[in-house]
Amino acid sequence: MKTRVDVLLRDEAARFAFRFACDDCAHFAAAGQRCSLAYPPAPRREALEAPALELCKAYEMA
Ligand code: SF4
Repeated sequence: MKTRVDVLLRDEAARFAFRFACDDCAHFAAAGQRCSLAYPPAPRREALEAPALELCKAYEMA
């Protein structure tokens, strides 16, 4: 499901240190920029700059 990214979401993401990106996921191998579950590595941190955000259901906090 896509979530619309607006000013409020960006503000709250910054205030509450929202973690959602592969960069903060336990399955992400930063050295190779790859997902260990073989998914396309998305969303990345810059995803909040887009008009919509699609979260990964396999995300696990690193
Ligand atoms: S499980 Fe999802 S959030 Fe985690 S690295 Fe893979 S694609 Fe990214």
